[in-house]
Amino acid sequence: MSSLYYSSTSNRISTLPSGSSPMLSQESNVRILRPRRASPEQSIRPTRAEVNLAALKHNFHVLEQAAGHAQVWAVLKADAYGHGAPAVARTLERAGVQCIAVALLEEAIELRNAGIKCSILVMGGCYEQAYQELLEHRLTPVVYHQEHIKKLARAVEFYNHSQRTYKPLQVHLKIDTGMGRLGVTLNELDSILECTKTYSNIEIEGVMTHFACADVEGFSGSESMYDQLYRFQSALQKIQRYGYKPRFTHAANSAALFRSLREKFPIDLRFDAVRPGIALFGVTPCSDFMSPQFQLKPTLRLRSEIVSLRTLEPGLCVGYGSTWRSSRRSCIATIPMGYADGLPRSLSNQGVVLIHGRRAPIVGAISMDMCSIDVTDISAAQLHDEVVFLGEQKGLLGYDVISAEEIAKTANLIPWDVLTSISRRVPRFYI
Ligand SMILES: *Cc1c(COP(=O)(O)O)cnc(C)c1O
Repeated sequence: MSSLYYSSTSNRISTLPSGSSPMLSQESNVRILRPRRASPEQSIRPTRAEVNLAALKHNFHVLEQAAGHAQVWAVLKADAYGHGAPAVARTLERAGVQCIAVALLEEAIELRNAGIKCSILVMGGCYEQAYQELLEHRLTPVVYHQEHIKKLARAVEFYNHSQRTYKPLQVHLKIDTGMGRLGVTLNELDSILECTKTYSNIEIEGVMTHFACADVEGFSGSESMYDQLYRFQSALQKIQRYGYKPRFTHAANSAALFRSLREKFPIDLRFDAVRPGIALFGVTPCSDFMSPQFQLKPTLRLRSEIVSLRTLEPGLCVGYGSTWRSSRRSCIATIPMGYADGLPRSLSNQGVVLIHGRRAPIVGAISMDMCSIDVTDISAAQLHDEVVFLGEQKGLLGYDVISAEEIAKTANLIPWDVLTSISRRVPRFYI
């Protein structure tokens, strides 16, 4: 097993010298906060996340199979669901991904500065005062307001003039078909299409929507998807009537993609491209959608080590609030991983970890930087033994796995926030 080190300290946003954060970009006076993450070479504490890039590549190819004729675009928002976006993006680019989608302009710029060449779709829609950054970094904005179009058109005109080129900007138009969050509603569609017509330097390259209930099992999920597909279809027809022929129509997240393999929808909701996020990282949004043909592999392992061991006589307590009391002579291990590292505090007295390949309970309240494990039944437990919070472990006592889904269930969360909560204090090691 070899480790590849990715230095987050040399990862720059914008053209300013490194070391200043937040930064002021010279060109456009936009403040861009550079995310700072503990880097492997600086890490002293044994707590770390190991990202398995081979598993990531495997998942990408599985998704390609599931997508059929449609392209698989990788959704790498929130630092690639906590895995570290630059390294994940590089791996997927080598595996042939055509487009990466992120939520923030800042996330897109981080990827460009990391050398990512493929198309980058910025889905969040916050570009105010940063149009120049958007154009300079060859990013594709998602638009859904007339104001966006107008301001973008002006920025493109200015930019092209300064560069002495004529290059239209390709945008993706987002349709709100039932998510009720971002997107043009069907009522506003005519006016935004009229508006776009008047700007020759804005090209609609893509049309997209987003499902609200693709991961809601059963009939209510399907019904909602039907409704949204129906509205999307009529939006697409209208867009065609205006003479637009967008190259890409896209809608499906991970759950919708897998669902489309099992359930018959009136149209193929994979369209020209699918936008999976969580599935790239080995999490199946609804496990009963999966056939063995599409086995995903977990990509992240969160581990630490025992830094202290103590024997407690019966009746003694552990942690803030003394929420756990020993009922027998107990052996308690202290682990340097707490809620500030992203270990959900709701796992206090609920969660489990792996030691020597066997489960041991988290006891007492999880603190900011530490937690305690009852290792009374694991007599082999010693100082510096590995403790796994998420992922697999093989040891003297067996083999076991703790998945993001399992943690989510215990902590009353969803796998998405389990992964994206792993904080920047935890260095990512790439394997
Ligand atoms: C996050 C996101 C996705 C990916 O969703 P997953 O459920 O993680 O696959 C796709 N499209 C949009 C617009 C998103 O915001």
